[in-house]
Amino acid sequence: MSGRTVTSRTSIKALTPSQKIQEKLLRLGIRSEMDLVLHLPIRYEDETHLFPIDQAPQGRAVQVEGTIVDHEVIVKPRRQFVCRIADNSGVLVMRLLNFYGSQIKAYATGKRVRLLGEVRHGFFGAEMVHPKCRVVAEDEPLAVTMTPVYSITAGLSQKTLGKLIHQVLNNPLHAPLLDETIPEKIVRTNQLPGFKQSILSLHYPPPDTRIDLLQTRSHPAWQRIKFDELLAQQLSMRLHYRQRRSLTAPKLLQKKTLQKTFKAQLAFTLTTAQESVMAEISRDLASRHPMQRLLQGDVGSGKTIVAAMAALQAIENGYQAAIMAPTEILAEQHFQKMAAWFEPLDIQVAWLSGSQKKKERQAVLSAIESGTAMLAVGTHALFQEQVSFHQLGLAIIDEQHRFGVHQRLALRMKGMQADTLPHQLMMSATPIPRTLSMSYFADLDVSIIDELPPGRSPVVTKLVADSRRDEVVARIQQACRQGRQVYWVCPLIEESETLQLQTAVETCDCLSRTFPELSVGLVHGRMQAQEKTEIMMRFKLGEVQLLVATTVIEVGVDVPNASLMVIENAERMGLSQLHQLRGRVGRGVDASVCILMYQKPLSEIARKRLKIIFEHTDGFEIARQDLHLRGPGEFLGARQSGIPLLRFADLEQDGALLTAAQSVADEMLNDYPQSAQRHVQRWLGDKTEYLRV
Ligand code: ADP
Ligand code: MG
Repeated sequence: MSGRTVTSRTSIKALTPSQKIQEKLLRLGIRSEMDLVLHLPIRYEDETHLFPIDQAPQGRAVQVEGTIVDHEVIVKPRRQFVCRIADNSGVLVMRLLNFYGSQIKAYATGKRVRLLGEVRHGFFGAEMVHPKCRVVAEDEPLAVTMTPVYSITAGLSQKTLGKLIHQVLNNPLHAPLLDETIPEKIVRTNQLPGFKQSILSLHYPPPDTRIDLLQTRSHPAWQRIKFDELLAQQLSMRLHYRQRRSLTAPKLLQKKTLQKTFKAQLAFTLTTAQESVMAEISRDLASRHPMQRLLQGDVGSGKTIVAAMAALQAIENGYQAAIMAPTEILAEQHFQKMAAWFEPLDIQVAWLSGSQKKKERQAVLSAIESGTAMLAVGTHALFQEQVSFHQLGLAIIDEQHRFGVHQRLALRMKGMQADTLPHQLMMSATPIPRTLSMSYFADLDVSIIDELPPGRSPVVTKLVADSRRDEVVARIQQACRQGRQVYWVCPLIEESETLQLQTAVETCDCLSRTFPELSVGLVHGRMQAQEKTEIMMRFKLGEVQLLVATTVIEVGVDVPNASLMVIENAERMGLSQLHQLRGRVGRGVDASVCILMYQKPLSEIARKRLKIIFEHTDGFEIARQDLHLRGPGEFLGARQSGIPLLRFADLEQDGALLTAAQSVADEMLNDYPQSAQRHVQRWLGDKTEYLRV
């Protein structure tokens, strides 16, 4: 490692004096010399070879050279400029459909030209339409490397950008940009090609480089760049993980008395998976450093109980716990559950929501502040200014993907006292594919509940075209008569919430009229919190048999007796949403059915989604396929805000690189912390801010 520093971040002004070009560069995300270095070609042109005209292969761009034999502008079938070019082996026609007067002049008879393009065999023999063309001298040398083609933007030419990149790569002052950041020993044991060599051979591949390997990004030089990118991500995530782990948290020992009493009062025993994640969480809580754990488990795997047990561990050590959920319905449901579980243990549970009356709210706030309430359950209202905890030891965030980074941070900060932070447990509704949790969630420890409670019969999924709505309605009636309960989920209308609401109201009216003997209820997002709770309560108690709902019931709602669900316009919904919705049934002993109604014609993506949800019930598999369909950016949702996405590495293809980067990251953080810093700085610069959470 050289003693020079890696000057990766400079102002964009240093790149070019032209403000116009600066603006265009910014549009490409280029704000520093390092960004130019990493602006890698999207493809290449091979100008290192010349083919005799009669031997030029077809199907790819090739270079030929010859003398212009004649040229003419013809007008039929449309105006075009046609040149005939000959070399020793044959003749080729160059056809330009758009051209300038200056080109007619330049490509005069007798001139020697070099063309790069695809040869096609038309009616008049071999021809190239709109090749790259220039006049050359007799002994014009061939390019010594492949010619890079970069992604550009309007107003910034290939030539200008290529020149800027070339300047940076060739300026001795900028040589540190290409320094090796990975210690030599690691480079050797992992058989990595050098960084500099890789960058240079990606910008300017030598002749005979296998373009197919470059194009598929599987060339060793590409592997190195992708490895470095993944390594930077691992390093920054793990660095922040370590930083947070170095802070102090209350030691919440596992005394087991409360947990034991609690378990004894349950109607079931915990699954092995629940017990083992609980052991992981317990161990974390008993440590002096803040836990930062993500609890994953499929829909219905029983995460709530685990959250309750964790809360009890905090409480029996004299610390408060808080549970935050993204929607009022879900938060309320958690509250009901927790209150029912905890009150027999003499633990007061507080309920905080945005829609509470002022007086009620005051009482709750003071119970939280004085510590009479040891558990607080609520929506994001929990981290508002007026809330102050007596002594918060554990913050639990359900459906963490619904919250932004800042909201999670805010709840954590609520519990900060002097330099002591509360422990944090995040729960995700939708399973996260392994590669994704290894990369974007590498700043967290992960626990996985990998089995469902026993006795669940899998939900049978049916796809039914909208035209068969009558049959579906008849089926509902039959089910309700047999004492089963049914969800009817109304279409998601993204463009208009009002329209969505209207549809739900109409559907409810229509179904009530069709089934006068049934009790039909309606729940939607615009209802008052109290109304929502009331209707959910009545559904839970079985007073309402058919619940018409908008997608507000998507997350978390738990009514085991409901065993039939109809989802209208399922083709509009995302995979995780469908999986979540479907997870509302199949919670009891009855065999459950989920009917997905769709409207034709189906788009390609909608067809794929419906096929996946029809074929699979395992949330991890669905998540994997969802990631494949949508890519990590969309899949990550809220967490993505502020998270630097991977540009080069592809989590599906590069799993092996990711594993390697993970272990190298550990090694570097332990043994070469300075190299680690330099590497992160090179790749992420100031983009690591968000991680201070
Ligand atoms: P999720 O993981 O989707 O949040 P919940 O925590 O809501 O799932 O649990 C789903 C249902 O399974 C609830 O009714 C819960 O009481 C029940 N349950 C949880 N654990 C078990 C278990 N070990 N045995 C039987 N039922 C369980
Ligand atoms: Mg849940």
